[in-house]
Amino acid sequence: MSATAATSELRERLVHQGKEVAEVMNDVVRETREKGKAWWQRGRLRLFKFEDVPRYLQDNNYIRSGYRANYTYLENWISLVHFHNESGNVWTHGAAFIAFVSMIFIAFFGDIHPNAAFSDRVVFALFLFSGSLTFMFSTLFHLHLCHSEKAYIAFGCLDYSGISALICGSAAAVTYYTFYCHSKYSTFWLILLIFVNLLGVFGPLFKAWATAAFRKWRAFLYVMSGVLSGAPMLHYLMENGTSALPPADKYFAMPGVAAMAGFYLMGVVVYVARFPERLAPGRFDYVLHSHQIWHLFVVAAAFTHSRAILAFMAWRLDQDTCPAVM
Ligand SMILES: [Zn+2]
Repeated sequence: MSATAATSELRERLVHQGKEVAEVMNDVVRETREKGKAWWQRGRLRLFKFEDVPRYLQDNNYIRSGYRANYTYLENWISLVHFHNESGNVWTHGAAFIAFVSMIFIAFFGDIHPNAAFSDRVVFALFLFSGSLTFMFSTLFHLHLCHSEKAYIAFGCLDYSGISALICGSAAAVTYYTFYCHSKYSTFWLILLIFVNLLGVFGPLFKAWATAAFRKWRAFLYVMSGVLSGAPMLHYLMENGTSALPPADKYFAMPGVAAMAGFYLMGVVVYVARFPERLAPGRFDYVLHSHQIWHLFVVAAAFTHSRAILAFMAWRLDQDTCPAVM
């Protein structure tokens, strides 16, 4: 074979092999695209009606459609950018989580008060951290509850832990500033309320927590947690009278606490009444059903409380020293 013929054969073979490689690559791209499309369509949220979802998801029979069910965790994450009957619940607390985490940076580096010491920044940041935990756990619960009953229970427990964290953070900050000039009382109440609420944060992570045998201890703990949120303030009032509270015309502290309590109360009423979906079942499946409104009230309460804590802080830091008798 001449050199020219050999070169030409080699070229032909290379072209042939090149074509084969191109074909294989083409197949890979086509198959990947088809598989990806099928996968995306699978992930593209089949939504179900109330009667077609597993029993554990049938929590509110006034919400008739828009249910996800038996999704993988990946599909749940994809469902973040789709519209279903949990989207509002996920995004209300998801957005609040992002806002609270951002505010932690403001607590440390922002202009929260000209006299703010590092300890003041830590107290405010701890409240914001407790809020961030609450909103994160709630977001994860609403995002993943449709995976399985096991996931529903596990993330539901985290949701409960978050509530105790927020109660603790909220009450601790107010207690710290009300008894700012009386460290003995402040230490007593803070240790007690942090201890009880930590039981509430970690308790739900144990299996025994949800059992019937534990019911009365659970109830006792949540009642104690509620009592401890108000008891230090009551104690302070009994010791010092209402005149020793931050003046409402100058500081948003007491009006803030009242507004926060009002938001929670209104939220609970809407939540329990299942309003407005009970008036028109199926009409509020995606937007503005009671759980979403409850979430919005919780967010409003938490933001109002953050303003109230800054007002309590300003009230104390505006005074040069503690009064002699407290
Ligand atoms: Zn919720």
